[in-house]
Amino acid sequence: MAQQGFQVSTVIQEKCLKMALKGAINEDADLNQIPQTGFLEYYFDFNDVTLINSCGIRDWIGFLDKLGPKVKIVYARCPQIIIEQINMVQGFLRPNATIESFYAPYYCEHHDEEKKILLKVNEVKGRKAPKKNCPESGEEMEFDAIEEQYFYFIKGQ
Ligand SMILES: [Zn+2]
Repeated sequence: MAQQGFQVSTVIQEKCLKMALKGAINEDADLNQIPQTGFLEYYFDFNDVTLINSCGIRDWIGFLDKLGPKVKIVYARCPQIIIEQINMVQGFLRPNATIESFYAPYYCEHHDEEKKILLKVNEVKGRKAPKKNCPESGEEMEFDAIEEQYFYFIKGQ
């Protein structure tokens, strides 16, 4: 499967810039297409991000530096690949950033497959995965990662 190029669709809501990101965040992703001034809030929907590599991480952190510490940053619908970077890379999640929602891997025994379930940060208490049932069979699924590691980014709960 060919990697798609990086795309940003933007919607402006007063002082908030809402963006849907799509494709690969790598050396070919042009983050300079995102305006870096003029907004108080930057809302990033990561739902369709398929890949992030080390160049992409470096560029993303540089981009956050340009935005500065005063704006509000929201990350929404973060896929597992983004959560793993947030947990591993200092500076990916700044103090001025919050995560609205993110995907977590669950395993359904009935279907013998992994499902990515969208969670809100406040569903996770004490870094324990909330109980989730398979949308098709209704059976309870097992969380399919190491809770302490996967929920590492959720602090002070
Ligand atoms: Zn199932």
